[in-house]
Amino acid sequence: MIDVEELTVRYGAATALDGVSLSVGRGEMVALIGPNGAGKSTLVNTLCGLLKPAAGRVSVSGRLALVPEGRHLFAPLTVDENLRLGAWRGRDRDTSPVYRLLPSLEPLRHRRAGRLSGGEQQMVALGRALMSRPEVLVIDEMSLGLAPLVVAGLADHLRERNATEGLAVLLIEQNARLALDLCTRAYVLEAGRVTASGTSAALAGSDSVAAAYLGLE
Ligand code: ATP
Repeated sequence: MIDVEELTVRYGAATALDGVSLSVGRGEMVALIGPNGAGKSTLVNTLCGLLKPAAGRVSVSGRLALVPEGRHLFAPLTVDENLRLGAWRGRDRDTSPVYRLLPSLEPLRHRRAGRLSGGEQQMVALGRALMSRPEVLVIDEMSLGLAPLVVAGLADHLRERNATEGLAVLLIEQNARLALDLCTRAYVLEAGRVTASGTSAALAGSDSVAAAYLGLE
């Protein structure tokens, strides 16, 4: 669904991604972990066509939806209006499945998105992406600002959509434990390069990954 080959992206003279290759197959859940400034947002922006590669290529097949990091909602519109904007081809605008998944949004449905907390906005962004019936979901920092219980609920939901519909996911996460737990494969991005990749079990068992990202010595 996503194929990134030898991707190099620069901001002027600064190289943010340097020969990055990664893939997400149909029905796969793949994680990308790495520290601040590693190039994760640059990769997302390139996948979405907002940045042009200096070298290499990116290809996406199937319906891709992005759950962006932070507050990329229409602030003057209500929660419900924001969710309906995500509807696939403007159809299937029934938002009730999203409220079943994220019950704490239901009482806020008529509140303007700009007046929500960061965590609430993050939930709306995920709900809006799910409204588009994606085949592949790119999630930028799912856990940021969310209560652990909410994150666990979202993770369960993604697992279920993956198992029942074959939803493919590229999960870009600072929380490596969550990422490795949810996804079957992962890549480690550091200073614009993929420095490790493999099954989540293998990466979690690697001393360097565990020390750097799982807080284990
Ligand atoms: P974070 O998790 O902190 O958001 P990240 O992994 O998403 O970090 P990027 O935002 O992709 O990292 O940044 C990668 C590198 O590119 C960093 O060194 C950053 O300073 C640099 N960079 C990002 N955006 C720009 C820009 N518009 N102009 C110049 N340099 C940039």
